[in-house]
Amino acid sequence: MILKDIKSYVKELKESYKIRIAALGEAPKLAIVQVGNVEASNRYIKNKVKDCEEVGIQAHVYAYPDNITEWELDDELIHLEEFYDGVIVQLPLPSHIRSSIATAAIPAHKDVDGFRTDSCFDPATPKGIMDYLRYCNFNLVGKDVVIIGRSEIVGKPLARLMLAADATVTLCHSKSKLDKHLKNCDLVVAAVGKPHFLDCSEVNAPIIDVGINFDENGKLVGDCYNTDYAKAVTPVPGGVGLLTRCALLDNVVRAKEMRKQ
Ligand code: NAD
Repeated sequence: MILKDIKSYVKELKESYKIRIAALGEAPKLAIVQVGNVEASNRYIKNKVKDCEEVGIQAHVYAYPDNITEWELDDELIHLEEFYDGVIVQLPLPSHIRSSIATAAIPAHKDVDGFRTDSCFDPATPKGIMDYLRYCNFNLVGKDVVIIGRSEIVGKPLARLMLAADATVTLCHSKSKLDKHLKNCDLVVAAVGKPHFLDCSEVNAPIIDVGINFDENGKLVGDCYNTDYAKAVTPVPGGVGLLTRCALLDNVVRAKEMRKQ
C-alpha cells in the first residue's frame, strides 16, 4: 500500500506526544480564541479541546462576542499570550476583524497555527500532510506533485514545504488546465472545497484529499469521487482532518519544548 492507515498513524502520534509531555514534566498550555458563534467553529474547537485533553495539553477557550472591536481583540491577545505556550484564533473571524491583526498580536514562537509569515511553526494542514507522507516513506525528491487549490492556508504553504523537500510542484487553480497536469504526476493533493470535483478513476497517482464538503444529502465528503478506482486516496472523514489536528498538537508540544530549552 502506498498510503498507510491514518487512524493507526494518529494513534502512534498521540502516544509520542504523551511521552514528550511526560518528559517536559509540565503540561503545555494552549489558548483557543473564538469570536462569535459559528457552528462549524464550535465543532472544530470542541475537537481541539478533546485532542488536547487526550494527550495532556491544557486547553482553555476564550469566547468573545462578535461585536468585539479589532482594538479590543488585539488587547486581549497581547494579554493572553503571556500565560500560554501557544495561542490560536479560530477562523473565520467576523468581517470587521482582519485575521492579520489577530495573528500579528501572537508572537512567532507562540503562533502554533503557523499563520504568520515568520512563525516558528508550519501551518497545521500542510505540516500534517508532510509528516504523513514521511511516515508512508513517500520520498518527494524529484517527484512531480500537482496541488489543486492555491489558498493561503493549504495550497501555497504546502507548495513551499514540498519545494523545500525537492519535489517539482505544480500549483493549480480555477484557471488551470487540470487534465494536462494530472496526466503524468506522481502525487495529487486536492484542496478545492467542492464535492465530486476530482474523478479518481482519471488519476494514476496517489491522492491526498483535503476537501471538507457536504454533499446534496448532507453527508460529509471530500473533493474526490470514484474513490474505489483510485490508486490510493486518503479518506474523508478520517483523513487529512485527523492529520491537521495532530499537527496542531505537535506544534503546541514543540512550543513548550522550545520554551524549556
Ligand atoms: P479556498 O476556497 O481558500 O481555496 C480553494 C482553491 O481552489 C482556490 O485556490 C481556487 O483557485 C481553487 N479552485 C476552485 N475551483 C477550482 C477549479 N475548478 N479547478 C482548480 N482549482 C479550483 O479553500 P481552502 O481554505 O484551501 O480549503 C479547501 C478545502 O479544504 C475546503 O473544503 C476546506 O474545508 C478544506 N480544508 C480542510 C482541512 C482539513 O484539515 N481537512 C483544512 C483546511 C481546509
